[in-house]
Parts: sequence; C-alpha cells; structure tokens
Amino acid sequence: MSSIEEKNNIIDGRKFSKEYTDNVLRPRCEIFKEKYGSIPKLSTIIVGNDPASESYRRIREKFFASLCVDYDVSSLPEETTQEELLELIAKQNNDDSIDGIMVQLPLPDHMDEDLVIESISPNKDIEGLSPGNVHAWTKSAPNLVPATALGVLALLKHYQVPLQGKHVVVVGRSMIVGKPVAHLLLKEHATVTVCHSRSRPLERYTLDADILIAAVGRAHLIRKGMVKKGVIIVDVGVNFEDGKLMGDTDFDDLKEDASLISPVPGGSGPATVCMLASNLFLAFELKQVKMNEEHQRCLRKYYANYEAIENKDSCL
Ligand code: NAP
Repeated sequence: MSSIEEKNNIIDGRKFSKEYTDNVLRPRCEIFKEKYGSIPKLSTIIVGNDPASESYRRIREKFFASLCVDYDVSSLPEETTQEELLELIAKQNNDDSIDGIMVQLPLPDHMDEDLVIESISPNKDIEGLSPGNVHAWTKSAPNLVPATALGVLALLKHYQVPLQGKHVVVVGRSMIVGKPVAHLLLKEHATVTVCHSRSRPLERYTLDADILIAAVGRAHLIRKGMVKKGVIIVDVGVNFEDGKLMGDTDFDDLKEDASLISPVPGGSGPATVCMLASNLFLAFELKQVKMNEEHQRCLRKYYANYEAIENKDSCL
C-alpha cells in the first residue's frame, strides 16, 4: 500500500498527549497560579542504578518541566536499607510542600516493594497503588488510579471507541496495568476477560476480543491470526529487541486487520505520562480544598471524566 492509500487506523499517543497538554493540563496550570497561588510538587525516589528507571525519570522530568510542576529527585545508593527508605517516605508524607510521591520500581532485591508502596500516604500516592486507592478503583470510585490504566481508557475515549457491551480482552493481570484497566473498563459496561501466563491457548480468548489490551512485556506475543478483523488494539508492552523498542504485538502485521491499533513507541507511553500529571494535579487540588467534601467529590469526578475535562472552569 502506498503512503497515500495507507489506512489511517493508528492510535496516536503523541497527538493525544499534545492535545491533552494544551487543552487540559496547561489551562489548569493557569488556574493553579491564579486561584491557589502555588503549583504542584512531585517527588521521585530512585534506589540503585537501573538504566530503565533512569530513562523513565528523564522522560517524565522533560514532560513535567514543560508544565507547572516543581520536581524533586532523591537518588539513593543501591545499598540503602529499607528502614532508610521508609524514613525518607515518612518525612515526605509529612512535608506539606510535596503533593505526589513516586518510588521508581523495581527496587533492589533486599526491599519489600509492597511494604514500601503501601507506606506512601494515599493522598500523595499518584500511582494509585496504596491500599485505600486500590479499594477505591476496585469499587469504581473515581480517585487516584494507576496512570497507565487511565491512559488506556483516555486513548479509547479520545478515539470515541464504544465500550458498552463490547468484549475487552486484557492480557496481563498486574496491579499497575492489567487489573486497574479491567476495572476501568467494567465501569464503562464492557465485558472484560483478563488473561495471564496460564491462559492457554491465548488465542482462544484473544480471537473473541472486540478490543484487546496487551500488557505483558513480551515481544511478538500477539501475532497475526490471534485476533479477528476489525479488532481495536492498545499495546502497553515495552520490549527491546536488538536495541529496538517494540510492544507486545506484531504491529506491522496486525495493522492490516485492526480497525485501530496503537504503536510502540508513540502509543500508550505518552498517554501514561499525561495521566501521571493528571493524578498529580488531582492530588494537589484535593489538598487545596481539603475540608470541603463536596468540592473534593467534584474534583474526583472531573479528573475521571475525559468528556467533560475540557471544561476548564470545573469545580472552581
Ligand atoms: P508484570 O507485572 O510483569 O505483569 C505481566 C503480566 O503478563 C502478568 O500478569 C503475567 O501473568 C502476564 N504474562 C506473562 N507471560 C504471559 C503469556 N505468555 N501470556 C499471557 N500473559 C502473560 O508487568 P507490568 O508491570 O504489568 O507491565 C506490562 C508491560 O507494560 C511491560 O512491558 C511494561 O514495561 C509495560 N509498561 C508500560 C507502561 C506504559 O506507559 N506504556 C507503563 C507500565 C508498564 P502472571 O500473572 O500469570 O505472571
């Protein structure tokens, strides 16, 4: 197919990110300065020298530098003890100038990741993984939800993909992607099947998907012949093969069969960073209106509703 004839069925995460930043995040920044006289502050804690963590940090930092976000990074050596890390988190939980805390995973082997994540104050847990926040998203209550899952939903909404009554197959059941994305889509009245490493054969499930979300971390897992014609695919996977970044799906082959498909890079990644900023903004605004429950409810709904979110004056 020539480039002119090429069908335009790509879910463009970079375009989404630009529009979301220009139409939602930047205008909200203006409001923060006018109304609250301050801007959100994010603290990132990195332990050790994982090169992937460094690269994620740089991407986030570049994005946040273009917004109204104050950014603080604590880089701790590999041999930091769990107690030292928990102490730092406790200090930041009590620091009123910090609105969001992110501990970059994976942590070194001598640390208990669940314990560390659970020690972050739920109000500052912009990754939506502390027990109170998990309880909220499993109940479909709008609040701080893992950003990658929010990004998948935001992309589907942006491309006006009907969700009600559709069969969504989510491949992957982690707490940061598979499970929250399944809950978000159940809330949209989709019928959701969640697959994992013991779902065999995988194509028994994927072939029936109207919408397929791949969140595994295995290149070439979803190949031609495993999906039906017209399927919509969001690929969350991040894999490196011969130095090349790719998702979980064979993009070039599946592009022919899919009615919409997201590439890697340039699909889910940019949407995740936007939603991380959105979570930080929500945490910041909830702090500003902390005694007003009605106002808090309004903000939670506002940040969870992509159709209404362009109404900049909401909840003011
Ligand atoms: P994870 O915690 O390792 O979970 C992977 C999931 O895939 C598990 O549920 C696992 O099943 C399942 N799985 C493994 N092999 C499988 C197979 N052969 N068939 C079906 N399912 C299989 O990974 P994660 O943290 O969710 O991340 C998933 C991918 O998304 C990674 O590539 C990660 O780098 C990427 N990611 C991308 C973004 C973004 O912004 N785009 C953000 C976060 C993560 P079991 O539960 O049975 O082990």
